[in-house]
Amino acid sequence: MAIKLITSPSNPVIKDLKALEMRKRRKETGLFLVEGLRSVIEGMELGATLKYLAFHQSTAEKTDLQNCIAYCETCKGMAMEVTSEILAKLSHKDNPQSVIGVFEQRFHSLKYVAPETSTCWVVLEQVRDPGNLGTIIRTVDAVGADGVILVGACCDPYSVEAVRATMGSLFSVPIVLTTQEEFIAWRAGWTGDVIGTTLQTSVDFREVTPKKPILLMMGNEQAGLSEALRQIATHCIRLPMNGRADSLNLSVATGIALYALLEPVHNLSKAEKSTQ
Ligand code: SAM
Repeated sequence: MAIKLITSPSNPVIKDLKALEMRKRRKETGLFLVEGLRSVIEGMELGATLKYLAFHQSTAEKTDLQNCIAYCETCKGMAMEVTSEILAKLSHKDNPQSVIGVFEQRFHSLKYVAPETSTCWVVLEQVRDPGNLGTIIRTVDAVGADGVILVGACCDPYSVEAVRATMGSLFSVPIVLTTQEEFIAWRAGWTGDVIGTTLQTSVDFREVTPKKPILLMMGNEQAGLSEALRQIATHCIRLPMNGRADSLNLSVATGIALYALLEPVHNLSKAEKSTQ
């Protein structure tokens, strides 16, 4: 593959890639930026389309990078050797990663979510913090849940901050986009339990043994889970708190709820042992 050598930070391609830090530009292009060789390899192994690959000369000889360059060619992408200054410009870091990939985004609609082949989907209503969203995507991957359904006006899972927090899990966790209205209508066809997490109930999460497949609904960081979504839950649960905190962080609450709800149906510890 012909590798371009780019040394000027004002090169038009570099300017275009830099613009991907803006949501508007990510939406227009359908692309997003991933930092680090490990995450780029993850994208490659999971078949995501690699449109640009920027790397520093110091990594050029690595076999893994060579594989990424070859993969970029099969995706009809562009591989570029760039300077440290350009990598710093693209990644906003003083000590930037020496490899940056630009991949195509993948979103799904609710048609993708089939109750008969699902164990658990996490439903996030108007999640606003990209760090929370990325952490939840990583947790969904870790527990082997099926994916994330974003309801209403949510932050972008493909923002730099969210992608960083996913640590590569974004490639293996399907993301569904929907509106509250569409979600409520679709939920009528769901065959398992629909669990709402909220402070507006006294039901302890340990009292509920959910029927698979599960929809686990989490609320917005400020407003919590809306009345409309609480209404369509088969159970609402609360994670009891003893101190003065009035709630848990959204991603922490999601992690605790996922482990608690999935353990009986999924047997996480057994699954891990069998892969060791
Ligand atoms: N002020 C909001 C409220 O009244 O719900 C707090 C929202 S909390 C930061 C964000 C989300 O995390 C909640 O909507 C809920 O899904 C979940 N959450 C946080 N703490 C929880 C708890 N103790 N019990 C159940 N869910 C909790």
